Amino acid sequence: RMNSGSYDYSFKILLIGDSAVGKSSLLSSFISNCVVQDLTPTIGVDFKIKHLTAQGKRMKLTIWDTAGQERFGTLISSYYRGAQGIILVYDVTRRETFVNLAKTWAKEVERFSTNHECVKILVGNKVDKDSEREVTREEGMALAAEHKCLFFECSAKTRENVHQCFRELILKILEVP
Ligand code: GDP
Repeated sequence: RMNSGSYDYSFKILLIGDSAVGKSSLLSSFISNCVVQDLTPTIGVDFKIKHLTAQGKRMKLTIWDTAGQERFGTLISSYYRGAQGIILVYDVTRRETFVNLAKTWAKEVERFSTNHECVKILVGNKVDKDSEREVTREEGMALAAEHKCLFFECSAKTRENVHQCFRELILKILEVP
């Protein structure tokens, strides 16, 4: 945690999960007030910065997006280094993205995230496509409980629950001693 003139805290937050679950869309949806458009995947790590105030504290959030690196099945350890928050994303309409989170990404996080106080949140995205749902809310809640994560279902497209999800994560990070 840093202290500087323009903010009280600086937090690094990561987005993790399979390709096309909506990580970049969630980030855009949170950062700007624009409606999400189709994004072209890019190569390398991408990050965005957002300043906000919560509970009277000014915060600088640096949110890292894999920008396609997840297709290689692993992320470089510097991606994880020093992160205060990790957002684990799956697509509620594609069961394999949920299974992969449990199998692959949760293990990666445990292996590489050096900060043991790191707050995790499991996010089921694309709830606007409810008729195509392959993962129930209950299953999401159970996986979150197993990995000691917060849990949210949201839609980057309609922006339902997106701000609540980031807000919940930030409030939890602020509680870390
Ligand atoms: P990433 O690879 O995990 O960063 O996923 P993207 O953000 O690139 O999203 C992959 C595709 O899913 C894009 O075509 C998005 O427009 C679409 N998408 C992302 N979030 C949602 C959502 O909440 N609902 C719907 N219906 N589509 C979404």
